Amino acid sequence: MRILFLSLAAALGTTSAFGWGCEGHQMIALMARQQLKPAASAAVDKLLKENPISPALNRFCKDRPADIMADLSTWADDARNGEKTAAWHFVDIPMTVTKIPASGKNLDQWCPTDGGKAGSGCVTRAIQEQWQVLKDKTRTGEDRARALRYVIHFVEDMHQPLHDSDNMDQGGNCTVIGYFQEPKPSNLHAIWDYKMLQTDMERKKLNQASYVAAISAEFAGRRSKWAKEKTDPESWAWEGHAMATRLTYGLLKPEIPVEQPGETNCDAEKAKVAALHLSIGDDYVNRSLPAVREQLAHAAARLANLLNQTF
Ligand SMILES: [Zn+2]
Repeated sequence: MRILFLSLAAALGTTSAFGWGCEGHQMIALMARQQLKPAASAAVDKLLKENPISPALNRFCKDRPADIMADLSTWADDARNGEKTAAWHFVDIPMTVTKIPASGKNLDQWCPTDGGKAGSGCVTRAIQEQWQVLKDKTRTGEDRARALRYVIHFVEDMHQPLHDSDNMDQGGNCTVIGYFQEPKPSNLHAIWDYKMLQTDMERKKLNQASYVAAISAEFAGRRSKWAKEKTDPESWAWEGHAMATRLTYGLLKPEIPVEQPGETNCDAEKAKVAALHLSIGDDYVNRSLPAVREQLAHAAARLANLLNQTF
């Protein structure tokens, strides 16, 4: 989710764009839980329970799961303003970049150190830094629990392709698009955060628990291979970016122009895209949903793998 999105959400009448929304974040955590070794699972619970979050914090997600890891997987969105960590939720690789540069996969040029608009840093660096804090037994429990909440959330966030991609539109937030017959226009970020997921759940008549079970079964054959993957957030970001190129932006009809990196002018971008009268329906959703489900399952496997290495 990008920094200006709250006002945009209010303007569009949408309620979420917190990187997968409540459902997506919680479901990844629930799937990751199933893949944690018993010692890691117990250590996660102990750290989170012994170092509770402020009871005064307003929690956006009102349906809070009993699993503490799933519940706290959305904490970083609630705390983003208070902690001044908005920039940590994404990395804006421009859509003009169509493949990993010859100079390598390093993302430093899109990871501000000078406190850009949303602050300093980006999601890949935040994962590495917070993981170090989590592993450091000399740090306080409070610091390590905060780091754990961040790591959980950011591994989840960066598997939403628009958290790795930007077309001068705040990761899709300024790209105005209709969604099926909905009377109000939506935006590309919200559609990838939660709308397609909701559509999939409604079509299949599944609730959160049964949807988690269905995705777990769908990708069961991939788990052992995924469990052997190296923890490599920069590669995950490039993978998300490739997905944004191929699907998120690539499937839009009519095509929208690839914007040269510069200053984002959200209002101008919205006006330009609105004139194209883009709308997303069955074709786009049916071609994107397998990737959405795979990203949820893959994020869970990678999160579990990271935590199994840590504890
Ligand atoms: Zn987020």
